[in-house]
Formats: sequence, structure tokens, C-alpha cells
Amino acid sequence: MHELSIAKSIVETLTRELAAEPGRVLVVRLDVGRLSGVVPEALRFAWDVACGRSRLEGAGLEIREIPVTVHCERCEADRELPGIDRLRCPVCNEPTPIIVAGRELQIRDVEMSVGKPNP
Ligand SMILES: [Zn+2]
Repeated sequence: MHELSIAKSIVETLTRELAAEPGRVLVVRLDVGRLSGVVPEALRFAWDVACGRSRLEGAGLEIREIPVTVHCERCEADRELPGIDRLRCPVCNEPTPIIVAGRELQIRDVEMSVGKPNP
């Protein structure tokens, strides 16, 4: 399962980066672009498994889905697309290969408790 390995690598990254931080990880917030190839539902499902017996055990996961934005050269503007099936300007219908946003898969924010680390 693709999302489980992604979830595990996020947990590993955070475990490494937060090694010196006291406190418990409460919530991890991710940006997931609609073109990232990651299914948010599957990632949520995999999250608890990936966090089990790690520093992040019990941490919540919040996913913000980032819509696809393309740049239209005819309009000279960035346009947010309603879906991912057609990379065309939704205003003038010009096809465009220029993707400005929507491929993200990144950790946006981590919320920690103050105090004791996880046992
Ligand atoms: Zn356009």
C-alpha cells in the first residue's frame, strides 16, 4: 500500500527532526496536492498504523487538500481547476501544461504538547 509507506516516511522524518524536542506530538498537518498521487482517505487509514510504537503514537493527522492551479498564458493568470481530469484554463479553455500548485506532499505544521515526551 503506497500510502502506508508515505505515512511511515513522514513518521520517520518527524521522529528524526523532533528528536531534541520535549513534548508529545498532538497533531501533524499535511498539505496534499490533488496531483500528488496520494489518496487522503488511504493516508488517514494508514496513519495510525505508521505511528504505532513510535514517538508519534496517538498523534492526529489533518490533511489539507491543495487544489490544482495552472498558469494560463492566454489569460496571463493563475487559475484554480475544479478537478484534475483536464489541464485547461477554466476561463478561456486554453490547454496548459504549467502547473503552479497541486503536486505538494509536505508537512505544513506540527502541534506539540508542552511537557513530557511520549513514554
Ligand atoms: Zn485562460
